[in-house]
Amino acid sequence: MNLERFARYPLTFGVTAIHPLKRLSAHLGGQVELYAKREDCNSGLAFGGNKTRKLEYIVPDVLAQGCDTLVSIGGVQSNQTRQVAAVAAHLGLKCVLVQENWVNYADALYDRVGNIQMSRIMGADVRLVDTGFDIGIRQSWEEAVQSVREQGGNPYPIPAGCSEHPLGGLGYVGFAQEVRLQEAELGFRFDYIVVCSVTGSTQAGMVVGFAADGRADRVIGIDASARPEHTRAQILRIARHTAQLVELGREITDADVVLDPRYGGPEYGLPSKHTLEAIRLSAKYEGMITDPVYEGKSMQGMIDRVRRGKFPVGSKVLYVHLGGAPALNAYSFLLRNG
Ligand code: PLP
Repeated sequence: MNLERFARYPLTFGVTAIHPLKRLSAHLGGQVELYAKREDCNSGLAFGGNKTRKLEYIVPDVLAQGCDTLVSIGGVQSNQTRQVAAVAAHLGLKCVLVQENWVNYADALYDRVGNIQMSRIMGADVRLVDTGFDIGIRQSWEEAVQSVREQGGNPYPIPAGCSEHPLGGLGYVGFAQEVRLQEAELGFRFDYIVVCSVTGSTQAGMVVGFAADGRADRVIGIDASARPEHTRAQILRIARHTAQLVELGREITDADVVLDPRYGGPEYGLPSKHTLEAIRLSAKYEGMITDPVYEGKSMQGMIDRVRRGKFPVGSKVLYVHLGGAPALNAYSFLLRNG
């Protein structure tokens, strides 16, 4: 495998911490050892998260092309757009963000707090658009790219979740290599890696990275899109493409992609009562904050799988925390009593 031939522009602090979730493991019966890897604390750029790691492999292309404006897209409370705004500020570039109406939810300050508030404070040109949820390439985004050109700018388009970008899977190939080095220090290997999936390039990169040591299907994706067929197809496609880029040396197959579809509901962006219970458990037992859109659902999926005995006794499970807590403020009503 050859990830090193791709340039990486540092945006993160470096290797992210892995720590045990001792109280949560004990609360769930103590048969499985849970750990967390903290991508949510990976950078000083507006709280970071998984996109910041992905963007490390995209920024060299931005700079090589001499672009002056990053253009990206997401929902109103998108973590992607907040991280792109932070990277633009850090690099001294302009930023245009298309924020679509992806979530069927209207807390009073939904479009003013959390992620979108930070993007505005960082100087991004935030454009609210009334189209619904879709993880593919959007017309509103193409129009935004065009509008930058019309004003004489040189736009660099970064699709939702960085996922349709040809280099979008590389960051999480690197993540797998990083985990291997940490495992060598810890003196054990993780049996399962649990990750939240929506636009797909996080899991796709991990599948490729862990395929290198035979663990592709030990990456347990928890769907949070509530459209798991779409997300699954996107993971597979990005993983195949990324495997070729890094010369993995074998094809990625259908069996390499494990995506659990059971926890994404009731809809993208809306938590079930079990999601809220998982958010509370993680917070009360570990002081680890997760959100109702993404990590609350992967936490819910991991907890449910432990309770149902889906991980063999003695398994070591790595929960990958991808960020997203800034969206919590936008859901204040749901968690008004803790
Ligand atoms: N977790 C958080 C906090 C996110 O912002 C995202 C972005 O969509 C995900 C998980 C899912 O990652 P991906 O879109 O690469 O599947």
